[in-house]
Amino acid sequence: MKINKKKFISQLEKGIKDLDISYSNEQLQQLWEYYLFFIEENKKYNLSTITEPEEVIKKHFLDSLVILNQLNIDQRKRWLDIGTGAGFPGMVLKLFLPGDSFYLLDSSSKKVNFLNQLIYKLGLSGIDATHGRAEDLAKISEWRGSFDFVCSRAVASLNVLLEYAVPFLKIGGLAYLYKGPEYKTEIEEAKNALDILGAKIKKTIELDVPGLEAERYLIIVEKNNSTEEKYPRRAGIPKKRPL
Ligand code: SAM
Repeated sequence: MKINKKKFISQLEKGIKDLDISYSNEQLQQLWEYYLFFIEENKKYNLSTITEPEEVIKKHFLDSLVILNQLNIDQRKRWLDIGTGAGFPGMVLKLFLPGDSFYLLDSSSKKVNFLNQLIYKLGLSGIDATHGRAEDLAKISEWRGSFDFVCSRAVASLNVLLEYAVPFLKIGGLAYLYKGPEYKTEIEEAKNALDILGAKIKKTIELDVPGLEAERYLIIVEKNNSTEEKYPRRAGIPKKRPL
């Protein structure tokens, strides 16, 4: 596939402008390098089925960035992206929030290896990709209850995802969860999980990703109570028997 850099950058720039996000040439260049490395490694490791430039711009880069205007960031924050895959949304958000620290977590070692190479290639600091399952990492004291923000896209239904995400948050911390058109049913089915884990839905926002027809929603969850030690249950159980 022949990729035209000028065309890629101009489409990316247009999308970012449509999102009303401020950006620099350096950030556009970083996303271009991200794309090239992603395409190269995808041939070996099958990181994603979405590879066409316009599709990656819309479905991965802009869809990751669309939440930036919904954030209330006043000081340096500590983020965790659960099930980050090839870095969506956490890696892309880091490029636009360079002062924040990001932890990218995934249970697939090939994706984590890709991300650590990309972090090195882009010369980034304050970001780290870790191989493991959310259910296991949430039991470790340096991780548990230590994040201001958790983000996650396309990992599990809301009731399962809450059991992964809420234990990592500080009290008052927020989870930014990307969801599709079934979000209302998912919220209905997650009421029990919210109660048990000590969290509540703060807000649901319809997202508008430039050039993307698909319905996208952001569910913002706030942790308002401590979570009992027994959650998350051991690896695999949250998905097998959602709260
Ligand atoms: N968030 C990325 C995106 O939107 O492109 C990747 C989505 S992919 C469909 C789901 C990812 O979640 C996979 O890379 C998988 O390895 C990871 N995953 C699933 N369950 C997990 C768990 N319990 N802990 C950590 N990672 C998990």
